Amino acid sequence: MNGEFRRYLEALGEQWEDHLKRHLDEDELIGYVRGELEAGDVERLQSHLVRCEACAAALADVADFFEPLREGEEPIRERVLRREWKSFWQRVRAEERATVRADVPVWFRPRALFALAASLLVIVGFLGLWTWHLRREIQQLARQAQSERTRRAELERENRRLQERSDVTKREYESRLSELESQLAQLREPQWNIPVYDVLSRELLLRSGSASVVNHIAVSPTARSFSLVLNAEDQPKYPTYAIEIVDREGHVRWRAAGLHRDRHGNFTLTLSRAFLSPGRYRLILSGQRGGRFQKIAEYVVSLSYL
Ligand SMILES: [Zn+2]
Repeated sequence: MNGEFRRYLEALGEQWEDHLKRHLDEDELIGYVRGELEAGDVERLQSHLVRCEACAAALADVADFFEPLREGEEPIRERVLRREWKSFWQRVRAEERATVRADVPVWFRPRALFALAASLLVIVGFLGLWTWHLRREIQQLARQAQSERTRRAELERENRRLQERSDVTKREYESRLSELESQLAQLREPQWNIPVYDVLSRELLLRSGSASVVNHIAVSPTARSFSLVLNAEDQPKYPTYAIEIVDREGHVRWRAAGLHRDRHGNFTLTLSRAFLSPGRYRLILSGQRGGRFQKIAEYVVSLSYL
C-alpha cells in the first residue's frame, strides 16, 4: 500500500470507521498475506492497516517471511540449497587461500592459471594468424603452380608447332631430294644425236655483210641438251681462253677460264635445256695471257625451245 493511497483514505476522515477496534492478530496477517481471507475481512484489515503503523510493520514482517511459501515447498528447498551453496563457496575460497599460502606448483595458482589462459588466447590468436599466413602461402603457391602449368602448356604448344614445322621442312626436303635424284638419273642416261649449232662471231658476220649479227637457235623438243660450236678459226692465238655468258640485263650467267680450242680451232659448248631459259644472250670470248684477259670475239645468240 503506497503512501498516496494511505493519504487518500485518511482524507476521508470521520466518515471512515475502524470496525475492528483492536490490532490485527498473527492469523489475520498470515491469512491476508496468503490471500486466504474473504473480501469483507480484507476490507476491514486494510482499513485498519492504513491507520495503524504497528500492524503495517507486522504485516511487512509476515509478508517478508511467508512470501516464498506462496509457491509451495520448492522455495524452502531452494533457500536451503542457497545456504548450502554459500557455505560451499566459502569453503572453496578458504581452501584456495590455503593453497596459495602452501608451496604448491605455481601452475595451479589462480593468477598463474589466468596467465596460462591469456597465453592460450595469444597462442590461439597466433595460430589464427599462422593459419591465415599459411593459407596465403598456399594460395600464392597455387597461383605459381597455375602459371607454371600455363607456361608449360605454352612451351608444349610451341614445341608441337616447331615439330610440325620441322616435319613439313623434312617432307619438303625429301621431296626436293627425290626430284633432284630423278633429274640426276635422267642426266646420267645416255644421249644420242645431240643437236649441234654453228655460231659465228659478230665481227665475222659484220665483215661478211650478213643481214643480222644474231645467231638464231631453235632447239628441238626431244633434245635435253644441245651444243654450240663457236667459230674461232680466224681469231688471234692465246695460251688459254675464257668465255662468259651474259644475259640481256648484263648479268653474267656463267663463265669459265683456262679453256683450249678444239682440234679444229673452235670452242664447243654443251648446254642443258634447263640451264638457260629462252632469250637473247651474248657469249664473250677472251684471250688469256699471264693474268690479263683480252676480248677477242662476241657471239650473239637468240635461244628458243620448240
Ligand atoms: Zn493495529
